[in-house]
Amino acid sequence: MFDTILIANRGEIACRVIRTARKLGIRTVSVYSDADAGALHVALADEAYHIGPAPARESYLRAEAILEVAARSGSQAIHPGYGFLSENAEFAEACGKAGIVFIGPPVAAIRAMGSKSAAKRIMEGAAVPLVPGYHGEDQDPALLQGGADRIGYPVLIKATAGGGGKGMRVVWDAPSFADALAAAKREALSGFGDDRVLLEKYLTRPRHVEIQVFADARGNAVHLFERDCSIQRRHQKVLEEAPAPGMDEGLRMKMGDAAVAAARAIGYVGAGTVEFLLDEDGSFYFMEMNTRLQVEHPVTEMITGQDLVEWQLLVAAGGELPCVQHELAIGGHAIEARIYAEDPSRDFLPSIGDLTHLRTPQESAHVRIDTGVRQGDGVSIHYDPMIAKLIVWDATRAGALRRLRSALAEYQVVGVTTNIGFLAAVASHPAFAAGDLDTGFIERHRAALFPEAVPASDQVLALACLDVLLCRAAEAERAAAGSGDCWSPWHLTTGWQMNGDSHQVLTFGDNESAVCVTAHYRPSGYLLDLPGGQLLTRGQLDGEGDLLADLGGARVKATVVRHGCDLTIVTHGGSHRLTLHDPLAHAGEQEVEGGRLTAPMPGKIVALLVEPGTRVERGTPLVILEAMKMEHTITAPRDGVVAEIHFAAGAVVNEGAELLAFASDEVSG
Ligand code: ADP
Repeated sequence: MFDTILIANRGEIACRVIRTARKLGIRTVSVYSDADAGALHVALADEAYHIGPAPARESYLRAEAILEVAARSGSQAIHPGYGFLSENAEFAEACGKAGIVFIGPPVAAIRAMGSKSAAKRIMEGAAVPLVPGYHGEDQDPALLQGGADRIGYPVLIKATAGGGGKGMRVVWDAPSFADALAAAKREALSGFGDDRVLLEKYLTRPRHVEIQVFADARGNAVHLFERDCSIQRRHQKVLEEAPAPGMDEGLRMKMGDAAVAAARAIGYVGAGTVEFLLDEDGSFYFMEMNTRLQVEHPVTEMITGQDLVEWQLLVAAGGELPCVQHELAIGGHAIEARIYAEDPSRDFLPSIGDLTHLRTPQESAHVRIDTGVRQGDGVSIHYDPMIAKLIVWDATRAGALRRLRSALAEYQVVGVTTNIGFLAAVASHPAFAAGDLDTGFIERHRAALFPEAVPASDQVLALACLDVLLCRAAEAERAAAGSGDCWSPWHLTTGWQMNGDSHQVLTFGDNESAVCVTAHYRPSGYLLDLPGGQLLTRGQLDGEGDLLADLGGARVKATVVRHGCDLTIVTHGGSHRLTLHDPLAHAGEQEVEGGRLTAPMPGKIVALLVEPGTRVERGTPLVILEAMKMEHTITAPRDGVVAEIHFAAGAVVNEGAELLAFASDEVSG
């Protein structure tokens, strides 16, 4: 076994690899970019080396810099994690030349699976079932059209060099084929520098079921059963589970055998995943093989009790697989939810910012959290916005699902928008509970999964009021204690007024509207005039932001996170953001805010869709911003007239930069 390994990655996967290395007594070496100097994977490693500026191209993708650190630190092997250099055959080859073990498959296996069409030809030879299609070298448009007609519509065009869903087009009938082909080729060329495509029968309601395989250099190969990754947005996974709901033993064996045959066909060594589409009639088809550890590997670990990173290290060090096939068994059910800093209601737009408050559910035999961040860390434009993977396990799927729902309800993140509410909506959907999964799940259940923003409930408003009033009372107490005259009426926070009822009016901004709540002081607490009626409330703050409240006799626990005038009220199962309007401190600021439109994240302006003088309605697309490798359309936050545009197309803007201004008389609250 190795004494020292280098982890050529960051975030949760780097931390994950360090955990196993530490368990085995292996010294770990991290690398980091400028943006990650204070990151968790740097803190956890025994040694860490700076390798360049924040953009991955200039740091985590710099093979020479990483090999140099490996030599300097005396690392005998490099674990590439996933993404970055993990499927880069040249890097694996360079490691070999430098006498360092690449913890991954042989170079030839990476190459064989690097092209989707070449991989398919190899699989065909190994009698692994393929989706009916065309994956030949001849790219003549007429020949491709003929191929599509023969396959029968709908047909899927895929970039041979593709990944991440780019360069894919569904074609529903013969007349649309030529245009779709041209578009897919353009996208493939710009995305991968290679415009070759392949054609596949488009399955209309498939499941994504993949098999974890493992092989050693001594000729042993096993599979560790399947994972169902059908819950996808933009062809990317968000929830994964093992075993696949409803999978029967016969089909499992057939798919497992096919995956092992696939691995053997390319002389595979190490951890790999063979991805299949499973059709409604139980037919399954090879899609691609990922020659690395997958993001969702923990669900397999939870049901098999194996540590796949340990297996990787053993195999890379020349050892034998720890198990043969019949020694592996499925125990219970595991589900993984990927927690992202992103906004589901804005087409999953990544959300950039600092994690000002982070509280996770308690880890146990049932709940595992794989993360690379701590409270206070930032989510930057440079890397994947995944905050953590929440993995739950129980004896049955129903039990695991219950644990998932409760762990999601306890997961508190403030500072960036997250998909936690969305994940909870999926986990609570009856079709998900019934195991009725396919890759179109999110689209089909869109209405139930993307609820309209609801106004703050009376309970949320009461908790916010209570928090503000209790904080003010505590501040006044502190001020009184520090002043010469602690009995001065100026320190009172009881809203005392001469000749009047003691009360205060609190105004909150809630999405686009404002809500006023009058709080009357009563000896037993605050009597609040809420939209739904009066409520007597009282409570206690514990200094950690936790609020123990009595709302008209009901005991409620909440966490209120304050950031300037922003209050995030986190209760079991949800969080709601309100802005406290402080009439003194922020007079005039609202108006300025309303007239401006700022960049939600750093990026490049791709297109301006309006010009000064254009009258727009709320929701009108204004600007297209390219950030985190995706295009984001920024829409008008309200009706108005564009007064000025501050940047031209092509400009690079910082987060918060004012993109355009509205004419001030058109700004409505
Ligand atoms: P990428 O490598 O770009 O991620 P994949 O080939 O892995 O692309 O496919 C990603 C997803 O696209 C799959 O998980 C599935 O949801 C969908 N998909 C791929 N091929 C087909 C097909 N032939 N029919 C229906 N859906 C497909």
